[in-house]
Amino acid sequence: MILETFPVGMLRCNCTILGDETTREAIVVDPGDNVSEILTRLAAHKLALKQILITHGHIDHVSGAAHLKRVTGAPVFLNQHDLPQLAMMEWQAEFLGVPLPEVASPDASADDGRKLGLPNFPGEVIHTPGHTEGSICLYFAPQQLLLAGDTLFAGSIGRTDLPGGDGSKILRSIHDRLLTLPDPVLVIPGHGSETTIGEERATNPFLSR
Ligand SMILES: [Zn+2]
Repeated sequence: MILETFPVGMLRCNCTILGDETTREAIVVDPGDNVSEILTRLAAHKLALKQILITHGHIDHVSGAAHLKRVTGAPVFLNQHDLPQLAMMEWQAEFLGVPLPEVASPDASADDGRKLGLPNFPGEVIHTPGHTEGSICLYFAPQQLLLAGDTLFAGSIGRTDLPGGDGSKILRSIHDRLLTLPDPVLVIPGHGSETTIGEERATNPFLSR
C-alpha cells in the first residue's frame, strides 16, 4: 500500500493518497488545494487516479476536486447531505477570506455503507453527521485505517458552530460509529497529526462521559 498524507492549502487540510503498487491505481481523499502537488505525487508513483473522495463539503477539503477531476477524469464522491455546503461556497470563501474555488458537482453520493476504494484496499463509508450533516469517515477494515475528516482529531473533535453543525450529533457519531472500531485502527484526521481509536477512547477529553 502506498499511503501519503500531506497538508494542503491555507488551513492545512490533510490530503491523502492511497495507492496500490501492484495495479498502479489510487484514490485521493480531500484534495483541498495544491492540485499540482497531488498530481506530481501521483505521477511519481505512476498511479492512475480512480476516485476522488470528499469527507465533507467545507472549502478547505473540496477546493481542488473540480481541477483534479478535470485532469484525471476520476469521479467525485460526496455525501448528498453536504450538497447545501457546496451551494454556500461563496459564503464559505468570504467567511475565510479565500478565493472562490471552482465547485465540482459530485458524481455520486458517498452514502453510509457504500463500498469505495480499490479492489485490494476496499473501503466503506461511515456517515458521521455533526461537523456537517453530510460528514463521512472512510474505513479500510483490512488495513485498520480510518480517514476521519473533521469528525475526530487527535485530542479533539470537529467544530460544530458552523452552518449544519450539531454538537450532540457529532458526539453520537463518534461514540456509536467510531469508538466501536478496534483499538489499533490508525486514524488520519482532516487536520493535524494521526492517532488511533484506542488512544482517543482513552485520552480524548471531549469523549469522556
Ligand atoms: Zn470542516
